[in-house]
Amino acid sequence: MNLNTQILFAAILGVVFGFLLNAFPETAFVEHSLYGLGILSSIFIGLLKMLLIPLIFSSIVVGVSNLQAGGQFGRVWKITALCSITTTTLALILGIGCAHLFDVGKGVDIQLFQADMQSHQSPDTLTPSSFLSNFVQNTLINPFKAFSEGNVLAVVVFALFLGVALVQGGERFALVRNSFQQFFEIMMMLVGWVMKLAPIGIFALLAKLIVTEDLSVLSRLAEFAAVVTGTTIFHGLVVLPLLLWVFGRMDPITFFRGARTALVTAFATSSSSATMPLSLKCAQENLGVRPQTAGFVIPLGTQLNMDGTALYEAAAALFIANLMGLDLSITQQIIVCLVAIIASLGAPGIPSAGMVTMIMVLQSVGLPAEAIAILLPIDRLLDTVRTVVNVQGDMMISVVVDRHASESTTDQG
Ligand code: ASP
Repeated sequence: MNLNTQILFAAILGVVFGFLLNAFPETAFVEHSLYGLGILSSIFIGLLKMLLIPLIFSSIVVGVSNLQAGGQFGRVWKITALCSITTTTLALILGIGCAHLFDVGKGVDIQLFQADMQSHQSPDTLTPSSFLSNFVQNTLINPFKAFSEGNVLAVVVFALFLGVALVQGGERFALVRNSFQQFFEIMMMLVGWVMKLAPIGIFALLAKLIVTEDLSVLSRLAEFAAVVTGTTIFHGLVVLPLLLWVFGRMDPITFFRGARTALVTAFATSSSSATMPLSLKCAQENLGVRPQTAGFVIPLGTQLNMDGTALYEAAAALFIANLMGLDLSITQQIIVCLVAIIASLGAPGIPSAGMVTMIMVLQSVGLPAEAIAILLPIDRLLDTVRTVVNVQGDMMISVVVDRHASESTTDQG
């Protein structure tokens, strides 16, 4: 059985085992199983996190220096930004459109949530401008601090500078450039080893998720959950594949086959950062994206491109407004979209990160931050699907960018 099939089986088995454990609540067997699952999933996530910073760092340095050397950096950079803006905008339009179409939250009794909201600690105000200035301040810092704190964005920025400098220095820095290249290859080798553990890790993560999440609260928010999940899936199964087909000339089946390992891992971990090593490997080895493109686009996209999160935040803001009986004007809805873009840019790729930045989206149009208490109980479950779409978007963009960048090289050649 190849790794892809093992992962798929493991995911199904994990869900089934989770429901099985749910059937025997509070028994010693469940307790022991949960302990075991906890250890297994921590090993898997821990290994991925261990590789994350050195991998992001080396892959961007190597990617940028190779792109620069080939004279493609400007082009790749522009196409990446264009693709990311396009897909995020489409996701936002979908999120807002579907929330309107299904009138999510209208007619639901807000009293149902009053207790949750009162017991929820209201966070400090998080305005887009303070958020943006924090975002900037946190990126230009001592790189060693960034490495040790796992500050992905700051690592990305430093790696970009270093990559450009290595090329500017030319032959003088050839030794350092080659060393980075080799270091990156070693990291990818380690990713390959960790991938072998993916079936076990995914089994444990999914079983644990089913047991520890309170699935019954889903029914209280069933309509909203169904609309958001359905719309996110539509974006992932229709919009993105269509763009990929038109602009990347790759058929969806080939894409999903190649991307499967990363997508299932994204679902199980709800973390695009933890999934990044696998996205990179799948893009390079299964989707045929050249290493220099994948090495630049995937780590950057992991941090900055989050269609699923943007879609979710826009739809959720409308849901909360409807729940409170408020009609958001067109201008307010545009503000929601713009802030959702900033929020998705700034959200780190970790579980429920979108919930934190959601506060900013709510506050931007005067909705109470406490209202996230309504969404929190189901967030971990909705996060699974939106993380898959976040990761899918990054991989898809890497294919499109690579296709266009390599064509330009062929044209020039
Ligand atoms: N969990 C998401 C991710 O890692 C971020 C979010 O909470 O929306 O991509």
